[in-house]
Amino acid sequence: MKLYNTLTRRVEEFSPINPKRVKVYTCGPTVYSFAHIGNFTCYIYWDLLVRTLRLNGWSVDRVLNITDVGHLASDADDGEDKMEKGAKRDGKTVWEVAEMYMNDYLNNFRALNMVEPTDICRATDYIKEDIALVNELDKKGFLYDTTDGLYFDTSKFPTYADFARLDLEHLKAGARVEFSSEKRNPSDFAVWKWIRDGEDHAMQWEYRGRMGYPGWHLECSTIIHEKLGEPIDIHCGGIDHIPVHHTNEIAQTEGAFGKKMSNFWLHNNFITIEGQKISKSLGNVYMFNDLAEKGYSHMDYKMWVLQGHFQSERNFSFEDIAAAKQRLLNYRNFAALRWQKDATDMNDIRDVIKTQLDNNLNSAGAFAELDKSISKNVPDDAFVKFLDDAFGLMIEETTPDIPNELKQKISDRIQAKKDKDYVKADALRDEIEAKGITLLDGADGVIWQYAK
Ligand code: AMP
Ligand code: ZN
Repeated sequence: MKLYNTLTRRVEEFSPINPKRVKVYTCGPTVYSFAHIGNFTCYIYWDLLVRTLRLNGWSVDRVLNITDVGHLASDADDGEDKMEKGAKRDGKTVWEVAEMYMNDYLNNFRALNMVEPTDICRATDYIKEDIALVNELDKKGFLYDTTDGLYFDTSKFPTYADFARLDLEHLKAGARVEFSSEKRNPSDFAVWKWIRDGEDHAMQWEYRGRMGYPGWHLECSTIIHEKLGEPIDIHCGGIDHIPVHHTNEIAQTEGAFGKKMSNFWLHNNFITIEGQKISKSLGNVYMFNDLAEKGYSHMDYKMWVLQGHFQSERNFSFEDIAAAKQRLLNYRNFAALRWQKDATDMNDIRDVIKTQLDNNLNSAGAFAELDKSISKNVPDDAFVKFLDDAFGLMIEETTPDIPNELKQKISDRIQAKKDKDYVKADALRDEIEAKGITLLDGADGVIWQYAK
């Protein structure tokens, strides 16, 4: 299987370190507000990744973190803490806020029928391990203390600029005078923040006799070290993570442990909505509830996402999701034919679909192949199961069952058409349609669906 690797900026053949198991880490949500549909695109793509790895016969050890501490409003180390901001807004404690939005996130994650991660790790459960990592970095001479926190001196990590192809000289020249004039280089970042006098910060832990909390990037390095061990096979996140978050994760992990962090890095692009950036001021921050109000389910949205590619910028529109919904309905109707006795041999089409997915997760190509096939074939149970394993669209579960009496009539009508007995076929069509089922006669055969 081939994947585009941000590390090398190339599509490369993937094979795991352990021939049987693949270690995958995906940077998870910061749980300070409801996640919008854009936030979920990446998890849908990474679900496709996990499923494609499994189709290749590998088991997947997949870890997802939940950021419930330390993420400041800007990706640099200033601005308001996102969790504190959420707590003030909601009139709740940071712990209540974390609990509430984490549960909402996980409910949506599960409603999207994602393969359950092997481990879901909350950042605040790893403070002791964070501190051990900070100590390790300190011992190796990467850190310096400031009034704001312990900072990583990026000039001591010579390959710092490589991952994101950063131009550090340019960064230096353009750096604004920051709150922390104690920073030695503009790219230096906090691994541990001190609580400053008068600062109101609910989450805090004692370290070196002072109260503080971990910098945002620390948890991913820590959790990977604890749960998977370096190097891992694949690390995933949004493209916005390349220049800061992932660059800093690499500096911490490779600085502390002297091992490569991950062999492959996958980054998803962003979606816009009706041509606009997702933003509160534009009123286009859609949640799944908003989609449901317009008649679109989690699976419809997943179908829409999977019609595109993780590396492409995509534009969401209600017109497009309507088309995705219809396409998914076509697949359900196709699956609904599986009770018919004369199932076709679907091995070839199964191979063609898998080949598309193995080609850098080309689900759009896979669906194009499936579309070509559905009007010509009758699937068996195994093929429907394969589709559900590959895409997780719950086709089998959501395919309406039809009464046996109607199944018989549909079979009889197919036979009547084969026998060129059009009078009988038309009479059967009327009977079937009277029961709320539409028959669609394509050039290559017949599919049917419940009338919408
Ligand atoms: P935020 O809560 O805004 O920091 O978003 C969390 C993560 O969701 C970001 O780091 C992005 O990787 C991802 N994300 C945010 N907006 C979008 C979008 N419009 N499309 C895809 N991913 C997004
Ligand atoms: Zn991360």
